[in-house]
Formats: sequence, C-alpha cells, structure tokens
Amino acid sequence: MTATSTRHAVYVGSFDPPTLGHLDIIRRGARLFDKLTVGIGINPDKKPLFDPQERLELVSKIAADLPNVEVACFEGLTVNFATSLGASVLLRGVRTVSDIEMEFTMALTNHVLASTIETVFLMASEKYSHISSTLIKQIASLGRDQAEKNLKDFVPKAVIKPLMSKVRQRTR
Ligand code: ADP
Repeated sequence: MTATSTRHAVYVGSFDPPTLGHLDIIRRGARLFDKLTVGIGINPDKKPLFDPQERLELVSKIAADLPNVEVACFEGLTVNFATSLGASVLLRGVRTVSDIEMEFTMALTNHVLASTIETVFLMASEKYSHISSTLIKQIASLGRDQAEKNLKDFVPKAVIKPLMSKVRQRTR
C-alpha cells in the first residue's frame, strides 16, 4: 500500500478514565485502519478527574500491544486535529439511540467544517454498551470496599489502581 492510500483514523474523547468500551473500539479500529490515533481532548470547560497527561499514559498503557495505535492530546476542533495528522476518518462508538442523535449532528457539522473527512461509526459491543466513564467514576467513589472488585467488569486492569487512588485523594 502506498503512503497516499494509508487509511488513518482518529478516535477522540475524554477518556476520563478509559473503559473496556473504549478499548474495544480502539482494538476494532486498529484492525480496520492502517493507523489509529487516539486523541485525548483537552476541554478547558470540563473538570476531569485525570489530567490530560495522565489520561494519555493510561490509554497508551492499555493499547500498548497495538503497534498501529498512537495516542496524543489535543485542544480545539476534532477536524483540525485530524487534518493536522493527515487523517481522513473520525472513528466514533455508539451505544444507544440517544448517542446516535448527538453523533449524527456532530458528524454533519464536522462534514461541513471539513468535507474530506468522513465519520465512521462502530456499534458498541453488546457486553460493553452500558459502560460510560461517568458511571465508572460513580462506582469508584460510591462503591466503598466493593469498588475495586466491581470495577474489573468496567475498566481495563491497569486503570483500577490509578482510578481508586485518584478518587481517594478527592474524597480526603
Ligand atoms: P466524550 O463523551 O467526552 O466525547 P468519551 O471518552 O466518553 O468522550 O467517548 C469517546 C467516544 O467513545 C464516543 O464516540 C463514545 O460514543 C464512545 N464510547 C464511549 N463509551 C463507549 C462504550 N462503552 N462502547 C462503545 N463506544 C463508547
């Protein structure tokens, strides 16, 4: 395959923290595209649990076995991030019908902003479709003694310890 026909996709999100659902999309995306860049969004309006560098380290760790996956932080519009990398695809995961509504609007807007970039949707795997970073933060902070055990079904193993220590710091 020549360099010009390389299929490069970006998969952006907050990943605060990265979940088994995110990792599933990353793995499937890595099989579909020659190169996949995971973009950790820096949004000054949001107060994330993990700072961007910590999220970058967590995603890098859980995707370390995927040679065609890179991870980077970015600020600003997703289409500008994709364009700066020479990527032509925005990869998104959809879990629910309500996700689709929002994603549809976002995809149309991004297409107006950058018509050469296409959005590709992957349906969430059935076993991960209920997982969200918000829910995971609640399990970690409200689950008490059971939290670590419960988190195994929601986040990659490497995320559990950093997540629990972050939550403990916050509640101190
Ligand atoms: P944000 O909601 O801030 O955009 P997220 O990190 O929550 O960022 O999600 C990034 C992308 O991953 C979105 O396309 C979202 O729909 C998708 N996603 C989130 N959780 C799952 C999941 N459990 N299964 C499949 N896709 C998911």
